[in-house]
Amino acid sequence: MKKTYRGGCHCGAVRFEADLDISAGTTKCNCSICAKARLWTAEAAPDDVRLLSGADELQDYGFKAHVAHHYFCRQCGIRPFQWVDIPATGRRYYNVNLACLEGLDIDELMAAPVTHEDGFNDRWEATPAEIRHL
Ligand SMILES: [Zn+2]
Repeated sequence: MKKTYRGGCHCGAVRFEADLDISAGTTKCNCSICAKARLWTAEAAPDDVRLLSGADELQDYGFKAHVAHHYFCRQCGIRPFQWVDIPATGRRYYNVNLACLEGLDIDELMAAPVTHEDGFNDRWEATPAEIRHL
């Protein structure tokens, strides 16, 4: 069941709400940016994330095909979410950074399934050979 969480960056400039069902699954990825940022995310539909403040502080960062917008706060550098827009498939969704959520129950998080994606090799549906460090 979805719950509505509040979250934000470190300095507080960027604030958002997200409707998430953590028990439905979370994701860790080994791509070049997720691995460096140690991102642990949950997917949310476009209407399930609402920016409450900080639109002017959100900096978009993209690379390669730029289908993923790796937003970060220009003041503190924290990445509250990614916006993914894949024209080839029509898929559009957020990846919400679970570390930015407030009031997320740790037991609930530990019980949530984790899908590991092999983004490093552009094999998004595959599990990487090594996942221990993610
Ligand atoms: Zn900030």
